[in-house]
Amino acid sequence: MNYSWIKAQFSNPFKSLASFVCKLMVIKGLVLSVVAVSAASAQELNIYSYRQPNLLMPFLDAYQAKTGVSFNVVHAPKGLVQRLKSEGAGSPADVVLTVDASRIAELAASDLLAPLNSAVIEGKVPSHLRANNGTWTALSTRARVIVTSKSRVAKDAISRIEDLAKPEWQGRLCSRKGSHVYNRALLASLVVHHGEAAAEEWAKGYVANLARRPQGNDRAQAKAIHAGECDIALMNTYYFGKMANNEKNPEQKEWANGLRITFFNQDDRGQHINITGGGIVKTSKRQDEARAFLEWLVSDEAQAIYAKINYEYPVDSTQAPSPSVAAWGAFKTDTLSIEKISAATPIAQMIIDRTGW
Ligand code: FE
Repeated sequence: MNYSWIKAQFSNPFKSLASFVCKLMVIKGLVLSVVAVSAASAQELNIYSYRQPNLLMPFLDAYQAKTGVSFNVVHAPKGLVQRLKSEGAGSPADVVLTVDASRIAELAASDLLAPLNSAVIEGKVPSHLRANNGTWTALSTRARVIVTSKSRVAKDAISRIEDLAKPEWQGRLCSRKGSHVYNRALLASLVVHHGEAAAEEWAKGYVANLARRPQGNDRAQAKAIHAGECDIALMNTYYFGKMANNEKNPEQKEWANGLRITFFNQDDRGQHINITGGGIVKTSKRQDEARAFLEWLVSDEAQAIYAKINYEYPVDSTQAPSPSVAAWGAFKTDTLSIEKISAATPIAQMIIDRTGW
């Protein structure tokens, strides 16, 4: 393994890899040494990633073993658009990988991405999971489902996302903050389907039903349900898988065991999903190599890794999910375009601010 995890240097965004950058060699989370490098060779790809390194490593391992291509990765939880803008034509980045619909679309809207020009990706990924202008593609999908306490909420009591705003659930909901990208994208889908005013009414009802102020991540909501603080929450499916199979923190298995997954809106438009996505940086000098890597990420081989390490759904809906993911049940997907969801996120954020979600 010879990845170089480049320490993100947001304090000096004008410093680029092409000139001189200090790289932190990090293997399995340990900082081993600091080295200086110059521009990468043709057998390397530079990735800017919103995705966590531990979720990226298995893909880079597999691709390197297969092709010999090695990777330099800048991981940042935010700020990659600003970084790419300030680096301009001198940016070392070849590929960007993101989590959530709005972040990849923001890169495209900032004119930072090149057209993918890939028949492989177009053949594999349905059009509602790709950019209209061909500059980005989803690489995996995840459903943001309703989870309820098996013992305190009846099996079919909730079937639609709209139900969570009904007064009968007052004091029963726990929630992550609305401004988190997962919740914001879900609310944006309601803005597209129902309009801004109706989406705001829903958010008001949802917030009014909260048992405590919005806090914590998705797993923290499961913990709160386990503790009896509330009975209902929203959760990305892969967190359920990570809890249910957690050997390191076995108490999380209990949190998951007490939960029932509800894929919502199955009798109408289908379950809202979100994506991880990727694109080629416009200024990359290695467009062909970058495209080949993204094409590999949508291949059956790589799609199996998404399922294995993070319990995600394949980007190609004709491909069966892994057995552990399939065990949660089949569901109908809302095929609203990810691009439309992304376009509605500024409105969703204003609603979140106004309703205090
Ligand atoms: Fe997540």
